[in-house]
Amino acid sequence: MDLTVNDILSRGDFRRENIVTLLESEGEDRKLLFSESARTKERYIGNKVWFRGLIEFSNICGKNCLYCGIRQGNKNLERYNLTDKEILAAADFAYRNRYGSIALQSGEIESRSFTLRIESLLRRIKELSHGELGITLSVGEQEPSVYKRWFDAGAHRYLLRIEATNPELYRKIHPKNIKHDFQRRLDCLKSLQDTGYQTGTGVMIGLPYQTMDDLAGDLLFMKEFDIDMCGMGPYIEHADTPLIKVSGSLLPPYIRFDLTLKMIAILRIMMKDINMVAATALQAIDPVGREKAVKAGANIIMPNITPGMYRDSYKLYNNKPCTDDSADDCLSCLETRVNLADSEVIYGEWGDTIHYRKRRQASGGRHQAAGGGQEGIT
Ligand code: SAM
Ligand code: SF4
Repeated sequence: MDLTVNDILSRGDFRRENIVTLLESEGEDRKLLFSESARTKERYIGNKVWFRGLIEFSNICGKNCLYCGIRQGNKNLERYNLTDKEILAAADFAYRNRYGSIALQSGEIESRSFTLRIESLLRRIKELSHGELGITLSVGEQEPSVYKRWFDAGAHRYLLRIEATNPELYRKIHPKNIKHDFQRRLDCLKSLQDTGYQTGTGVMIGLPYQTMDDLAGDLLFMKEFDIDMCGMGPYIEHADTPLIKVSGSLLPPYIRFDLTLKMIAILRIMMKDINMVAATALQAIDPVGREKAVKAGANIIMPNITPGMYRDSYKLYNNKPCTDDSADDCLSCLETRVNLADSEVIYGEWGDTIHYRKRRQASGGRHQAAGGGQEGIT
């Protein structure tokens, strides 16, 4: 017999079919879901938000994911690569504004020169911030030895979205070749976790061909993998990508948006003490999308601190917000927005999860966080 939303939440019974029931909840049931996730967040995290200053340092990518606006095959795009000086200046901005952490993100390049460049940048960012800025990397699939080098140089979090955990769906949204291999993506996630990173993953919601059952499977995967951080957001079409051909089959944007909020709420209840990002893509659909995500259970916001002139070229999808703000505009606007979500921005702390600390202890403390395992920088 199918359980009601109330039964599922009070029993904490997150079997696949029950997650689908939660994803499809409407009216009073939907309200019940969101009040439970808000309660869980308040109890385990508090009404707090931490910033990760996002530096999208290059849109040069060697891959061709069928959904992504900066895929190698898109020729309608000016490519850029920030200089070291520009990256360090952005990191310094984050440090001076007491963001606690930054996130370095780019297209995916696997090469020795890329490896060495990131390694040197990590060391210099640690130096300029006296070891205080936390650093998240999100630069795709790399060899285990590369992940280790970067960890040793000071990165301590890594975000690698699995994108879709159903291998068949994964294949449909990527070219069929060795560069876009589901198993490798999984192996990379495992290798990140084994190296000692706080490991983050996530999926896109509302992809073509995706079912509710797929989304339920995504959440079960995250729980089973025991992730420390999650960044998931709505899929948004981009005119210069192959998937635009099937955009007629997509759910309307407001449904993709609502499904994303539900995914965040359900995961918050399933994994109470992880860090969850309120994705920028939410704001491309709803002007107060990120605030709604914070209310639903997210506790991390990534203010864009990439120099403004490059932002327009990091267009992953249509309608990407805030591409013409400066980093200062971004800060004041976000602080107001977070307050609107009845939450408080916590400055000068890394904002690591209790989840990570517990997981590290369970693995015998063998994974010391880079920077001497320091938690806050206050
Ligand atoms: N290249 C790295 C990688 O793929 O892991 C990091 C940068 S990549 C641009 C960051 C994320 O953007 C991807 O993991 C993907 O989920 C998201 N993304 C790309 N295209 C998107 C789209 N059309 N709509 C929503 N999210 C998208
Ligand atoms: Fe490149 Fe990442 Fe976009 Fe794929 S999602 S094309 S790896 S930037």
